[in-house]
Amino acid sequence: MSGPRLAAVALPVPLFAPFTYAVPEALAARVVPGARVVVPLRNGREVGIVTALDASLPEGITAKAILDAPDAVPALTAPLLELGRWIAERYATPVGLVYRAMLPSALGVASRTAPAGREEATVRVMRRFPSLLERDVFFKRAPAQRSAYEALEAMDGRVALSHLTGKLGITRAVITALAKRGALMITKHAVMRDPFAARADAQRAAASAAGAAPLEPSAAQRAAIDTLIAAAPGEVALLHGITGSGKTLVYIELLRHVVNVQGKGAIVLVPEIALTPQTVDRFRAAFGDKVAVLHSALSDGERLDAWRALHRGERRIAVGARSAIFAPIADLGAVIVDEEHESSYKQNEAPRYHARDVAIARARHEGAIAVLGSATPSLETWAAALDGRVRRLSLPMRAGAGELPAVEVVNLAGPQSRTVDPVRVALSEPLERAIKETLARDEQVILLLNRRGFASFVQCPGCGWVAECPNCSISLTAHKAPSRWVCHYCQHQQEPATQCPRCSTPVLSMRGLGTQQVERLVAERFAQATVARMDVDTTSGKWAHVEILDRVASGEVDILLGTQMIAKGLDFANVTLVGVIDADIGINLPDFRSSERTFQLLAQVAGRAGRGAKAGRVIIQTRAPTHHAVRCAMTHDYEAFVAEELQSRRSPAYPPTVQLANVLVSGEVQDDVAAQAQLAADWLTRLIAAKKVAGLTLVGPAPCPIERVEKRWRWHLLVKAVDARSLTRVGRYFAERFAPASHQVRVSWDRDPVSLL
Ligand code: ADP
Ligand code: ZN
Ligand code: ZN
Repeated sequence: MSGPRLAAVALPVPLFAPFTYAVPEALAARVVPGARVVVPLRNGREVGIVTALDASLPEGITAKAILDAPDAVPALTAPLLELGRWIAERYATPVGLVYRAMLPSALGVASRTAPAGREEATVRVMRRFPSLLERDVFFKRAPAQRSAYEALEAMDGRVALSHLTGKLGITRAVITALAKRGALMITKHAVMRDPFAARADAQRAAASAAGAAPLEPSAAQRAAIDTLIAAAPGEVALLHGITGSGKTLVYIELLRHVVNVQGKGAIVLVPEIALTPQTVDRFRAAFGDKVAVLHSALSDGERLDAWRALHRGERRIAVGARSAIFAPIADLGAVIVDEEHESSYKQNEAPRYHARDVAIARARHEGAIAVLGSATPSLETWAAALDGRVRRLSLPMRAGAGELPAVEVVNLAGPQSRTVDPVRVALSEPLERAIKETLARDEQVILLLNRRGFASFVQCPGCGWVAECPNCSISLTAHKAPSRWVCHYCQHQQEPATQCPRCSTPVLSMRGLGTQQVERLVAERFAQATVARMDVDTTSGKWAHVEILDRVASGEVDILLGTQMIAKGLDFANVTLVGVIDADIGINLPDFRSSERTFQLLAQVAGRAGRGAKAGRVIIQTRAPTHHAVRCAMTHDYEAFVAEELQSRRSPAYPPTVQLANVLVSGEVQDDVAAQAQLAADWLTRLIAAKKVAGLTLVGPAPCPIERVEKRWRWHLLVKAVDARSLTRVGRYFAERFAPASHQVRVSWDRDPVSLL
């Protein structure tokens, strides 16, 4: 044996191969796979994860030594290391970026997300050098600037300022000088410490204590629980239970067995913690101190504490959104994905993983059972159940005394459309009458309008001009109080114009209802009722959601009006009427999932009515009463909907008929983007031919439906595959080898995309 031991270290930089470092004798005991190590990188240092030991060193290269190894126990267990490799492979992402996403940012594996509780700044590369010569000229006599710039470049061109000044030890002066010279840009953003955390926690505890009386499972729940308890390790089950069927109780009883009887750990994924306080409360009530809740309102330090408690085994159940799938739980017995159809399970930046699929992979690797629960399962999961890869369990009845509500459809395309009464535009006669009756009985109403703001666009009645965002190909939404035109894609805001900039017509008309306008109309028509609005604009405080929902629970609010936020998981016995103001928003979006989304939204929001003993009623206003998403929501017929929708995904083929990746090309120069998209398509065509990969089809390139976002033009092409493995191979190859010829252009490979817009 000669020479030092070597370690392969995955660094949080966008490079596919781990770096090799020498292991100093003194650190040898701590440098094991999964451990964090501090290593030199350029003129700074970086924290990485050891992936393997005794990696062989390429000839002629000497390895630098690892500087430090802070973990007595490796941060990542062997199964999580393995899971990271699976994610890197499947989503064609450098494994270092995956490990970074798997660990809390306070562990120092550099992260782009800013720590909470102070002002944070991001530094971004603004200038690129087409040649080495230009680079040399620009940085002549400024070597410190050059190495700072190159460090930033190596980190994907974008990193927190504190990372540069802290870990990499670059001085503020150097960064400021680079910014002055236009080579980079510093953007500041305030990061608020959550003022409600303590209050909300107290409230949570009280709610838990109050709701602790255990329920007796129904026969259907019992059957599902027994099947799950008897399931084989690695098995995946779909719990298809209609809204209000009591899926949460099934999860809880399963975990009682897994955690209390078998002594194993578990993960419960929910779409968004802030929106599902009731579900979280039920787990807390059942398992108390065994639960760690990983929510977005935690500071980095608090998140780290929760992570450590799980890592040390002090807490055995992790409840959280998407990234909780990486919770460091040893001896995992079950993974539950509640509302598995939700698109928030997909991460929209690298690593672009889908937490539902990661959950299945993790359960398989670790011999746990995976339970996917939904009233409206995704087509992917349903197809898997149909061909036996997933076991189907169903809860066809509501758990309590109630039944599914009756659903009525009001066709807005009728005489209704010629009304002059402004209130009538939002509320048809049947809906208005139903609200009046519900309020008279002292019951509550939920109104859904999936569009925030006042008016969805502003138009000149003279020439047809529509106000558009200067950065995006999206029309601006009018907001009131304060009066602003806002882009919902890039948050650009501007003062409303008082006349048409094209033809000077003095009055611009507001088109399309938004929640602010409906709130005003409803308050006008029902002056005695208390109306609460819940959308992105009213919920900017971290616990604003909970406050609004508490007011609904206490009966203070009579009418809850909101966007899709109010469609999920809410369980209020006194809500007996649900009104959908406009079911057609989103129904015709140029995206293969638009019907599925619409059906899910309608079915879910309808499911909020009549959950207690009192009967519920749902009124859907639409101009497309014959659309299958509306028709099937009306009859609560999920199976009829999927049958029709699966058929329509055969030709043209879309998931689940095929496996899909969306290659997105974006940049500030339109021609460049189009050319690079074509280049990517040609490159892939050649690759597929050369490697003789069967069953792959390319579609495009073409401009994205939303052609421009945040000043960047966007093109895309779709890669469809019959077989998952060949798509993985091609994706990996493409992500590693294809480099756009222009530095301005970014290319990303989005496997299993949830949106093609
Ligand atoms: P889902 O998630 O399937 O929509 P929930 O789990 O929220 O449904 O349950 C709906 C309601 O039914 C809750 O208020 C819950 O307390 C109640 N419930 C669940 N199971 C039972 C049961 N076995 N007996 C009585 N009520 C139940
Ligand atoms: Zn005009
Ligand atoms: Zn915009």
